[in-house]
Amino acid sequence: MPYTYDDQNIFAKILRGEIPNDTVLETEHSLAFNDIVPQAPVHVLVIPKGAYVCHDHFAAEARSEEIVDFMRATAEICRLKDISPGDGHSGFRVIGNAGEAAMQEVPHYHLHILGGRLLGGLLPVA
Ligand code: 5GP
Repeated sequence: MPYTYDDQNIFAKILRGEIPNDTVLETEHSLAFNDIVPQAPVHVLVIPKGAYVCHDHFAAEARSEEIVDFMRATAEICRLKDISPGDGHSGFRVIGNAGEAAMQEVPHYHLHILGGRLLGGLLPVA
C-alpha cells in the first residue's frame, strides 16, 4: 500500500493553522469542522491529525489510539449535532471517499458526517 502523502493539501494547511476552519470538535488525534459547501443541514468533516491519504491507509498504518480517537470523535459529533438515532434523533450518514472512482477531492483522509434531512438512497442510479 505505497501511499504518498502530499502535505500541501488543503486539510494539511487547516491542521497547520494556515487556513481557517469552523471547528466542531478537536481531540488529541482528530479534528472536525463544517464543510465549506454543505450538502445537508449538518455536514461535518472529521480528519485524523496524522498524515493519511484515505481510509485503507489510515486503517492499515494508524496507531490504535488514533483509530479509537477518530471513531469516538465521529460519535461525539453526532451527539453534539443532535443527529444520533440512539438519542432519538433522525439519523445520519457517514461517507468516506477514496481515490479517483469515489472522486476524492482532498487527499487527506476524512469522513463526511451528514444529517438533518432525509438523505435518500445510498448512490444515484447509474
Ligand atoms: P472529498 O470529495 O475529498 O470526499 O470531499 C472534500 C470536501 O472538502 C468537500 O465536501 C469540500 O466541500 C470540502 N472542502 C474543500 N475545501 C475546503 C476548505 O477549505 N474548508 C472546508 N471546511 N471544507 C473544504
